[in-house]
Amino acid sequence: MRALYIGRFQPYHLGHQAVLEKIAKEVEEIVIVIGSAQESHTPENPFTGGERMEMIYAALGESDLRERCIVTPLQDIKRNSVWASHLQSMVPRFDVVYSNNPLVVQLIGEAGIQIRKPPMYQRDLYSGTAIRKLMREKCDWSGLVPASVAAFIMENGGVERLISVSKSDSF
Ligand code: ATP
Ligand code: MG
Repeated sequence: MRALYIGRFQPYHLGHQAVLEKIAKEVEEIVIVIGSAQESHTPENPFTGGERMEMIYAALGESDLRERCIVTPLQDIKRNSVWASHLQSMVPRFDVVYSNNPLVVQLIGEAGIQIRKPPMYQRDLYSGTAIRKLMREKCDWSGLVPASVAAFIMENGGVERLISVSKSDSF
């Protein structure tokens, strides 16, 4: 059985990691799909698809999940009605989708694909939005992501980039 787990992973955090570990107990293989892969350098999507792929592979390397996961990017198509077919046409085959994102749940359900909703792990703490806010406010965020992801972000100027792309040029 092969599962699909999709997110934007801006950045990949310990909530994502907890979901992945839960999925790994239920299925043999996992396709991790990086959504909105074409986006980068914005307040909502600071990291490129490739950077997010590196972060995820680095985090998987910390655990024994590396051999059971395939990480692949997916660009947006701005037509929700055919998004599930777009997904199926671009990624390795899968049997079940794990997601809590309401739009993903709706579109996958309508396409007749099996969907499972994983439990939420401390969503107030482990949330991309909350982590990006901490980064912008120069508060401590590094404990909320796997150590290798924190290292990647710091080595590649990720926080400085997020702060810079969040600025406006008006007073
Ligand atoms: P953002 O706030 O930028 O949307 P996010 O934390 O929701 O970030 P996504 O990449 O959008 O991260 O999420 C991918 C998937 O992981 C979604 O299905 C989301 O519901 C789920 N997810 C995110 N955080 C958690 C968490 N703490 N526990 C369980 N699932 C989570
Ligand atoms: Mg989200």
